[in-house]
Amino acid sequence: MGTRPLLNRRLAGMGTTIFAEMSALAVRTGSINLGQGFPDTDGPREIAEAAADAVLDGRGNQYPPGPGIPELRTAVAEHQQRFHGLTYDPDTEVLVTAGATEAIAAALLALLEPGDEVIAFEPFYDSYAACIAMAGAVRVPLTLRAPTFRPDLDELRALITPRTRLLLINTPHNPTGTVLTAEELRTIAELAVEHDLLVVTDEVYEHLVFGTAVHHPIAALPGMRERTVSISSAGKTFSFTGWKVGWVTAAPALVSAVRTAKQYLTYVSAGPFQYAVAEALRLPDTYFEQFRADLLRKRDLLLDGLTAAGFRAFTPEGTYFITTDITPLGEKDGIEFCRSLPERCGVVAIPNAVFYDDADAGRSLVRFTFCKKDEVLAEAVTRLQRL
Ligand SMILES: *Cc1c(COP(=O)(O)O)cnc(C)c1O
Repeated sequence: MGTRPLLNRRLAGMGTTIFAEMSALAVRTGSINLGQGFPDTDGPREIAEAAADAVLDGRGNQYPPGPGIPELRTAVAEHQQRFHGLTYDPDTEVLVTAGATEAIAAALLALLEPGDEVIAFEPFYDSYAACIAMAGAVRVPLTLRAPTFRPDLDELRALITPRTRLLLINTPHNPTGTVLTAEELRTIAELAVEHDLLVVTDEVYEHLVFGTAVHHPIAALPGMRERTVSISSAGKTFSFTGWKVGWVTAAPALVSAVRTAKQYLTYVSAGPFQYAVAEALRLPDTYFEQFRADLLRKRDLLLDGLTAAGFRAFTPEGTYFITTDITPLGEKDGIEFCRSLPERCGVVAIPNAVFYDDADAGRSLVRFTFCKKDEVLAEAVTRLQRL
């Protein structure tokens, strides 16, 4: 095989994701896994039945249409209208993808030239760095810092160069729980227009906002519709993360570009699940309100428990993650802390450091998810008091 490394240099150092390592550790030690963000309760029974019916009725069992089944594209367009007042044509402005993950990959592979700079908030969702690298582009982090984790928009302005092509936004933001305000989004949009930048916005937590926080889609702002690729997915909103049904909404030229990359990644996916997600998107408002209320209760349960255990816990405005600082526990290094936590008290968490380029900014931060049953969270909280 010679001496040349097998993994190419774009992906060098990206190894196994932290989630695989920590989830394996959870299984080996019998720990409660508050690392990876997947619910331990499935979404609505009637939506699961809709998927089963589609399989049994022979809908979607063979390759569905490349852009997604018309029923789902229509439901996505209706959902954008209903919740955000955004109008998209289901035929030319909606594309169904294999989860938001494929939408992100296809958008970045389609829109970036090698050497282009992409500004993204760090801590990054882990696929961003890999997809930017696979596109041969350069990631430029805008660091969200404790305790507020708000973007410094003067810093953003200063990071823009003639090589900047794209802003990669994520709101509500994983892992910090920051929800960008209308004011912040307006400034970001003005910069995008002024510098003629594309915007890719990951809004998979669009329905997971708490208290007074409101999710605003940047695509709604002046000058943004024609330069924004909006991405969302069914996984987080409907608690079916294994179905991997996501979507892009954007102007026709952008959808067409993203589709060009997407068709050579998966071509199509999740045929029968597309029918079920079309129904899910049309669930009444009570579904979305109840889901939010349940998660808010879980958030507060874990927030109180983490605080009582001695963590400095930062209250998230959205998503299903709580970022904490372990310094008050006399700890410094989140990676070491997370590797020893299962042995010490039978709980698994994720060190935020792995989501940062700026190692110092994330060193003492650790992320816990609260999308678990109340009794599981209560047991985790009890175990954490041993620290
Ligand atoms: C979970 C998650 C995704 C992936 O969504 P899928 O639909 O499962 O592919 C993308 N972005 C963020 C920020 C996430 O937390």
